[in-house]
Amino acid sequence: MPAKVIDGKAIGAQVRSEIRSQIENARRSVRLDAVLVGDDRAASIYAQNQAKTCAEAGIEYHLHTLPSSSDYSDIAGRILLMNTEESIKAMMLHLPLPAGVDTERVQSLIAPEKDVEGVNPANIGNVVYGRRSLVPCTALAVLEMIESTGIALRGAKCVVVGASNIVGKPIAVLLMRSEATVISANKFTMNLSALTREADVVVAAAGVPSLVKPDWIKPGAVVIDVGINRIAGADGKSITVGDVDPKVSDVAGWMSPVPGGVGPMTVAMLLRNVAEAALR
Ligand code: NAD
Repeated sequence: MPAKVIDGKAIGAQVRSEIRSQIENARRSVRLDAVLVGDDRAASIYAQNQAKTCAEAGIEYHLHTLPSSSDYSDIAGRILLMNTEESIKAMMLHLPLPAGVDTERVQSLIAPEKDVEGVNPANIGNVVYGRRSLVPCTALAVLEMIESTGIALRGAKCVVVGASNIVGKPIAVLLMRSEATVISANKFTMNLSALTREADVVVAAAGVPSLVKPDWIKPGAVVIDVGINRIAGADGKSITVGDVDPKVSDVAGWMSPVPGGVGPMTVAMLLRNVAEAALR
């Protein structure tokens, strides 16, 4: 029997409608302020979509655009101004920044209580300590999707493939907070498939198309595919694929698709963070 689908689109839509009700009940206006630097096409499209998604959830969207000639001090100046602006409670920074601007240095300037993407190191530190904080959205999305299967995470064996600061590491920490037994794997991990074969939960966040194969997976396991990779399809046109080979569905008990899995769920988690930052 093929794996049950963890439908990020459907769960995300449910979360977004809950946020809308929460905002309506609070009778307060909620807004998200986003900074977009330069004219990167993908980032501009993302910002346009974000404006639409926010409107549907009852969130005002303010986009602050800066020219592509902006340097570190121009962008830092804008962020610091937004930190002090009282009407701004939730903010985020679109990527990429112009070449030569240190992204992490800029992200670390965002006031932690307004940092709805959870990219300030202070927020990631709070995740480790289990303190209330704004948690990176993709990690929240992954945890919510795993929990939607009903699996008991306490004591479960989990392997997180990929250990970046903003994706893999926070996912591993959230799983540790659920008292799972967690292995964090990276590109130097030896005999990775032997580790994943023992796991009750495998999260693939390496950015390598179809890395995780059916014989890497224990029958019935929960498999979450975070990867978003653009490759050439059979007809030469570019398509989006995940880090998990679709044939894994023949072995896994539950699996999230790409597209339609972690991506839309991450958008929903961003909006949840916006509501939390604005209404707390
Ligand atoms: P990254 O390049 O910063 O980090 C990749 C990590 O994977 C590193 O720790 C690296 O050591 C590890 N890795 C690479 N090859 C490996 C291999 N063969 N075996 C084991 N580990 C390996 O990438 P990232 O920013 O963490 O993103 C990872 C993937 O997740 C990308 O495909 C990205 O597009 C996607 N992503 C998706 C969302 C979403 O909302 N769905 C959000 C962020 C990132």
